[in-house]
Amino acid sequence: MPSFDLRWLFIDLNSYFASVEQQEAPALRGKPIGVVPALVDTSCCIAASYEAKAFGIKTGTLVRDAKWLCPKIRLVESRPHLYVDYHHRIVEAVDSCYPVETIYSIDEMVCRLSGSEQAPDNALALAQKIKNTIKEQVGECMRSSVGIAPNRWLSKMASEMKKPDGLTLIRHSDLPEILFPLELEDFAGIGPRMARRLAEAGIHTVQALCALSERQMRMIWGNINGVRLWKWMRGEETGEILTHRGSVGHTHVLEPEFRTKKGALSTLQKLVSRAAHRLRNMGYWASRMSLQVEFSRGPTREFRARFDDAQDTPTFLKILNDLWENVPAGSPFWVGICLYGLVSADRHTPTFWEDGKREKLSLVMDDINDRYGRDTLSYAVLAAGKGKAPTRIPYNWVPDLSEF
Ligand SMILES: [Mg+2]
Repeated sequence: MPSFDLRWLFIDLNSYFASVEQQEAPALRGKPIGVVPALVDTSCCIAASYEAKAFGIKTGTLVRDAKWLCPKIRLVESRPHLYVDYHHRIVEAVDSCYPVETIYSIDEMVCRLSGSEQAPDNALALAQKIKNTIKEQVGECMRSSVGIAPNRWLSKMASEMKKPDGLTLIRHSDLPEILFPLELEDFAGIGPRMARRLAEAGIHTVQALCALSERQMRMIWGNINGVRLWKWMRGEETGEILTHRGSVGHTHVLEPEFRTKKGALSTLQKLVSRAAHRLRNMGYWASRMSLQVEFSRGPTREFRARFDDAQDTPTFLKILNDLWENVPAGSPFWVGICLYGLVSADRHTPTFWEDGKREKLSLVMDDINDRYGRDTLSYAVLAAGKGKAPTRIPYNWVPDLSEF
C-alpha cells in the first residue's frame, strides 16, 4: 500500500466579485463586465469578468482605460454585502463536502486532507465534488480553481496554475519541474521587491531559483522566509503555528531595528488592525485571539485570550495590549497574531452594552482605506509601526507568513 502525501486542497473562486454580479443578473453573463466602487471615470475596476480580462482589463484598471480597451464593457457598482453573503454560502457548500480548515480571504479557503482523501484519485474526486457543489448550491457562475498538493504553499500555487475552472494536482514526483513554467513574480511570497533582490543575485527564472541551496536562499532573503520557501518548493511542510480552524491572522519577521519589545508591539498593533480589517471584510466576528512571539534565543511563546464576539479594531488593540503584559523580556525575532473562534454575522449576538459605534467607525475607516489606499486613516497608536510590515496580501500568509 503506497503512502500518499497530498495533504492540502486549496479553493480559489475565479473573478469572484464579477462572477457574483453575473450570477445575480443573467443579462451580464458571458459579457465583459467590470466591478467598480463608484460609477465615475476616475474610479478603477476592483474586479473584471473573464470576458473583460480577455481585453486586458484587470483589477486596478482605470474606468476610462477599461472603456478604451473595451467600449462594450458593462460597469457595475460593487455590492460588498452581497459578496459577503455569497462567501458564507460558498464556505457552507465546501464544508458540506469536507471540513474547511482555514478561510484566507473572501474567495479563498483551504481543506486539510487526511486518511484516504490523500490518495490522488480520491483527492481529485473530492475536488470535483467541491467545484460542483459550489455551482449547485450557490450558483452556476461560481467557478473555482482548486489546487491539491503536499503543503499549503504548493496547493495555493497549484490553484493558480489553471484559471478559470482549474483543477491541478502537484505530487512530490512532479517537483520541481512543474514550477519551471511560472514566473518568479507568480510565486506566493515573492513580491516586486524580492524579485528585484533576486535579479541582483542573478536569479531570473524559477529554474535558477530551484538550483539554489537552502543556505543561499537564506542569504538572499536575509531571514528564515528564504528557508521556508526552499522547503515548500520541495514539498516539505514547515512548522505549523496558529492553525486554528477558521482564522484570520498575520505574522511578520521583525526587521533588526524592531527586535525590541516596543518595536514588536508596534508591529503587532499593525498586524491586528490588518487582521481586523480582513475579518470585517469577510463579515465575521472573532471571540479568541492568539499572540505568538519567537525570541532570537529561546522557544516560541503563545498567549491566548477569550472574549465576547468583537469586530472592531480598538477592542482587539486593547486585548493585544493586555496579552502583551505577559510577554517576558527578550529580543523578539518573529511575531504572529491570529483571530479565531469566528462567528458569522447571522450568528452574532450583540452584547447588551454594544452600541455598534466602534464597529461603524471601523467599517468607515475600512471603506476609506480601501478607496484611497491602505493607511490613509489609521489609529494613532499605529503610527509607530506605520510603513512596517508591508502587505503582500494574500501571500504574505503562506505558512507562518500570516495565518499560521
Ligand atoms: Mg480568486
